[in-house]
Amino acid sequence: MFGIEPTQIDALVLTHEHTDHIRGARRLCLDHDVPAYATRGTLALTPLDGVRTGRIAAGQSYRIGGFEVAPFKVRHLAAEPVALSISCGPRRIGFASDLGSITRDVIDAMVGADLMLMEANYDDEMLMSGTYPDFLKRAIRGDHGHLSNDDAGLLSAKSATPDTGRIVLIHLSRENNEPDKAVRAVKECMKGLSHKPRVEATEHGGASGPFRLG
Ligand SMILES: [Zn+2]
Ligand SMILES: [Zn+2]
Repeated sequence: MFGIEPTQIDALVLTHEHTDHIRGARRLCLDHDVPAYATRGTLALTPLDGVRTGRIAAGQSYRIGGFEVAPFKVRHLAAEPVALSISCGPRRIGFASDLGSITRDVIDAMVGADLMLMEANYDDEMLMSGTYPDFLKRAIRGDHGHLSNDDAGLLSAKSATPDTGRIVLIHLSRENNEPDKAVRAVKECMKGLSHKPRVEATEHGGASGPFRLG
């Protein structure tokens, strides 16, 4: 799995309860005796019978599997979703996927991270001219929906620092986005910055990682 063995996994951290994020979590945890960490709201709605669980909350910091994990609140149509700042020594990863707004909390989770994993869910033109029903288009574009390519560009421009070496765009919609468009949009938004992190996008439905820092 992603070039690592399940036995190398110390813990699972779940950001929210949507199926595309928790599918297989219980099986993996039970088969390999791995604990799962999530917020109270996420744990309440995630089937984890028999799994060792730990509760995390936005605004706190936790020692999990050799990492320092700090969850941050995000706006998304889920019970208690979070973005994550994950540190190991001087290195840091900012993880923000499944969110509809760029809030102060989100910028704080990302700013200055060496590696950013950031949602770029849709190209606005593709979404609007696509086949999704209007209510779904509105939900995706809403404050509690998903980040567009342009949103990801804005978040990158606000949070990338000279320490930021790499931005990986994730959670691209198969219907409403293309990796090339996402990368182009984000690079365009960062044109004015003196530092230029590498920007790449994961393929639709493709696995990302593992990432090695430093
Ligand atoms: Zn998702
Ligand atoms: Zn979601």
